Amino acid sequence: MPRPLVATIDISALQHNLRIAKSHAPEAKIWAVVKANAYGHGLERGVRGFAEADGLALIEPENALRLRELGWQKPILLLEGIFDAADLETVARAKLDFAVHCIEQIVWLEQAGLSGPLNVHLKMNSGMNRLGFKPEAYRAAYLRLQAIPAVRKITLMTHFANADDPLNPGLPLQQQMQQFEQGVADLNDERSIANSAADLMHPELKSDWVRPGIMLYGASPGGASAEQFGLKPAMTLSSKIIGVQRVGAGEAVGYGSRFVAAAPMVVGVVACGYADGYPRHAPNGTPVLVNGVRTVTVGRVSMDMFSVDLSHVPGAAVGSAVTLWGNGLPIDEVAHAAGTIGYELMCALAARVRVVDL
Ligand SMILES: *Cc1c(COP(=O)(O)O)cnc(C)c1O
Repeated sequence: MPRPLVATIDISALQHNLRIAKSHAPEAKIWAVVKANAYGHGLERGVRGFAEADGLALIEPENALRLRELGWQKPILLLEGIFDAADLETVARAKLDFAVHCIEQIVWLEQAGLSGPLNVHLKMNSGMNRLGFKPEAYRAAYLRLQAIPAVRKITLMTHFANADDPLNPGLPLQQQMQQFEQGVADLNDERSIANSAADLMHPELKSDWVRPGIMLYGASPGGASAEQFGLKPAMTLSSKIIGVQRVGAGEAVGYGSRFVAAAPMVVGVVACGYADGYPRHAPNGTPVLVNGVRTVTVGRVSMDMFSVDLSHVPGAAVGSAVTLWGNGLPIDEVAHAAGTIGYELMCALAARVRVVDL
């Protein structure tokens, strides 16, 4: 007798969204990004949903090994590379591709004396100032990698800060691309540059590999809605109404009494709270579906439950079906109302939430 809260994953949506990613970059190979437990969907579902991808990319070395255990034989890429010299042997044994973004990682490689062959992805900091070598230091890093006998293949990699907002004055996309072009100059190796936003909105950026993440799960990277991009939500988070209160005018709901009824109303309690990954900072008015009818949250989200306005939901009662996000209610709308992005909601799905296949 589990709680009614459940995340239902539609594998066919993962497959569909992968085809959309491919259609925007038909010549490119695809790293399907499965970091953060496949954005909350489960690694094993990523393996099934992205069977047609050319490789899987993620951050966590232990999960890369798990992908091998799950039978994934195609390439696997560690997007931040290794975190310690001691990881190199494991990486070589499991045949993992890995990013190299700092000089320390190159030194570890030089000193390891591995037999290889290793595929490394040399990351450039083209202006985002997160990971990578500056354009002027890129060539020297490349030459050092090339001199390591175990290194078989070097891929030229960078990451965009504003692919969803190309005219962002902080760092226009075009400027990052110019920096990248300058840094790679006459190097003819394969290039890996596009995340979801670049894949969907910048086909002019020729990339041998694209690295879509969020779009594969059916949420938007920005720029337009997931539906406008033809994406289908892979995760539907649903629950039930577990209690109903009649609230009089002037009465308050929940911790901190952040919502006060203006008129008599009916309030339902949903079995889902911030300990499940529902954002605590979702304000009054965040959208929710009850019996398929759109309504809103009232009062603070607490650990295990929150309340919704049932005044205009016909037939709503204990046991009524609630959709927190997914089919019928885009995760991006809920995220927007809560001042965050779909990425964060998916990734924050808590371990106590049951996850099942559709
Ligand atoms: C997470 C990540 C991606 C995928 O980004 P989305 O915006 O989810 O498509 C691509 N490349 C790198 C290096 C990443 O860390």
